[in-house]
Amino acid sequence: MNKCKLYLNYAGHCLAKANHAVKGDENISIKFHALFGVIQHPDMGWILFDTGYTERFYKATKNFPNKLYALITKVEITKADELKQQLESNGIHPGDIKHIIISHFHADHIGGLKDFEDATIYCSKLAYDQVLKTSNKFAFAKGILKDLIPQNIDKRLRFIEDCSQTVDDEIFGVKHDLFNDESIYIYPLPGHAAGQIGIIVQTNIAKYFLIADACWNARAFKTDALPNPIVRLFFDSWSDYKESIQKVKLFHEKYPDVIIIPTHCETSTSKLVNPAFNLDAL
Ligand SMILES: [Zn+2]
Repeated sequence: MNKCKLYLNYAGHCLAKANHAVKGDENISIKFHALFGVIQHPDMGWILFDTGYTERFYKATKNFPNKLYALITKVEITKADELKQQLESNGIHPGDIKHIIISHFHADHIGGLKDFEDATIYCSKLAYDQVLKTSNKFAFAKGILKDLIPQNIDKRLRFIEDCSQTVDDEIFGVKHDLFNDESIYIYPLPGHAAGQIGIIVQTNIAKYFLIADACWNARAFKTDALPNPIVRLFFDSWSDYKESIQKVKLFHEKYPDVIIIPTHCETSTSKLVNPAFNLDAL
């Protein structure tokens, strides 16, 4: 098996309510950090998992109806915090990025997509179909800002279902061996968004399961603490969401050593992110 290196950090955040993320929690503001992953693969080079926020969010939400998105979701991102800038500060240039895995097309996951023009973009067909069938006018209500999507994306997309080997999985039904070398496995985690995916990466130190927004707080799969049902309005499918969490829960019970990382769960991510670009810490 080809082992990768993994680096995690934040590219901006939005403010959310604790009692929306977990029903019954306090009515206080919390940060939803936009986590990204940088993977160094021994043969495939640099790979990104999601791309965080960029200042493009402000431009994309300047006018109605997208302005409603910004009014509901207060986003804080500076140029210095953008993924592209963080990489450049560490000698990695946009052209060095050849592969980007997108968990789903919400603005906090694809904000930096336009910065990496040479990268092949991997996502599920279901996730992209959802983008195509959502009208420009109402896309914001599904968390999608079409201005953040590169214009030539059709030429650069590769659908996980088509390009990688499908393997049976005892819990998730199927998983996909992205590069057919067992280095990165893609798992279906639908519900929060149509066709959402997560990845498992094995490093020399541990196995990490980046589950994106399959849940917002790790307590969802540890103690069944679900979000406030009000958030259903923005979800693709509440039943798929609950089913995905149950699968993550089963996985956690069966493989307690795997480090499961929900993108916006600060308790899970704060001990993994690192301002210093260290590829040997995780
Ligand atoms: Zn998110």
